[in-house]
Amino acid sequence: MNTVHENRLLLGGHDAQALVKAHGTPLYVYEAEVIRGQCRLLRDSFADVAPEFHFAVKSNFNPAILGILREEGLNIDAVSPFEVRLCLAVGFAPEQILYTGNNASEADLRYCLEQGVAVNLGSLGELERYGEMNPGGSVSLRINPDVGAGHHHHVITGGPHSKFGIYHTEHEAILARLARHNLRLVGIHSHIGTGILETADMLRAMEIILRTAAPFDDLEFINFGGGLGIPYRPGEQPLPIAELGREMARRFREFCGVYGRPLRMKLEPGRIVVGPAGTLLVQVTNIQSTPAHTFVGTDSGFNHLVRPALYGAYHEVLNATRVEGVQQSVVVAGNLCESGDVFTQNKVGLEDRLLTTPRVGDLLAFRDTGAYGMSQSSQYNLRPRPAEIMLEGGDVRLIRRRESFEDLIRNFPDLD
Ligand code: PLP
Repeated sequence: MNTVHENRLLLGGHDAQALVKAHGTPLYVYEAEVIRGQCRLLRDSFADVAPEFHFAVKSNFNPAILGILREEGLNIDAVSPFEVRLCLAVGFAPEQILYTGNNASEADLRYCLEQGVAVNLGSLGELERYGEMNPGGSVSLRINPDVGAGHHHHVITGGPHSKFGIYHTEHEAILARLARHNLRLVGIHSHIGTGILETADMLRAMEIILRTAAPFDDLEFINFGGGLGIPYRPGEQPLPIAELGREMARRFREFCGVYGRPLRMKLEPGRIVVGPAGTLLVQVTNIQSTPAHTFVGTDSGFNHLVRPALYGAYHEVLNATRVEGVQQSVVVAGNLCESGDVFTQNKVGLEDRLLTTPRVGDLLAFRDTGAYGMSQSSQYNLRPRPAEIMLEGGDVRLIRRRESFEDLIRNFPDLD
């Protein structure tokens, strides 16, 4: 919860200025209470069906966050062997992890097999390879349901232009491979996109998935993926999640009635769990005008938050040093040598925002950056990744150290 005291931004009751005084900038700040609240929201909204929630680790893999989610009873959706390994290290049991790789190599699949982690396969080729490796085993399959949705074409993961999943028309080819390797198909999975704010998109995909699942006799679960969106822009309507939960539960029960036995529902939320819990704090380093814009330069960039540069995604920006006051229309930019290194842009181009007139040294706060912020960061321009801290109750805990020069160069044998 963000509040304001003496016109300065507080995060979880802590003065943002004091947090950066202790930990520097740029700084990712997470609020444990918000994460726990989002877990409660999911559980309550879907109470009629009590799904198994598998947190999409790709959205944020900080072990402190994973630890909170473990306490909250979530399972794991992992997409790489190292994500699996990290979750095992955090204390998740292998049975709590479902691996949904993409173009998974034989080594990836073998690792899952060795760890006792179930796999969700997204191509006929992977099914064939896994069958050869583990005849008589159980698998889940990712199906492309011919429906896509999401906030940008890069994140739409269903439909004919998506690389993900076995096309829903491949029924015969699936059966042939299952039979050849004596595999049991225990799960059907689909994930149509991300940032979905319309119930209808999820329900439409659900219908197609249920139709795809119906002819398979051995199912134990159906996994409807993640994609539950959060409002990023002020005034944007949130996904009516309680209504979605009730509708999906009703439809699922109806389906199980016709299927002839109860099945488990799985969901793989990422963004909705951690997105609203994160704030990226950066410092203003420079202000410069052109005839078209006033550019506010900062000590961060798309190496720390790539969503605006990658998708034209919107993050609300506040001047944390003076939340209210005379406002100025500005473009907020980063410190990388790339013209696309601008935080306030949309799919068309630069987007001016109204901020309390920034000065060099002010602190800016990018809201809702808990998901796909730090996890998509890089070391571009040889700039270190930020520190991360967790606020819980009155505590402030460092949960990732800021990278040092030594961290950045440690894999260059020439410098050994
Ligand atoms: N499951 C799969 C297979 C995904 O690809 C993704 C995101 O891309 C997710 C779950 C999580 O999506 P979100 O963070 O939008 O809930």
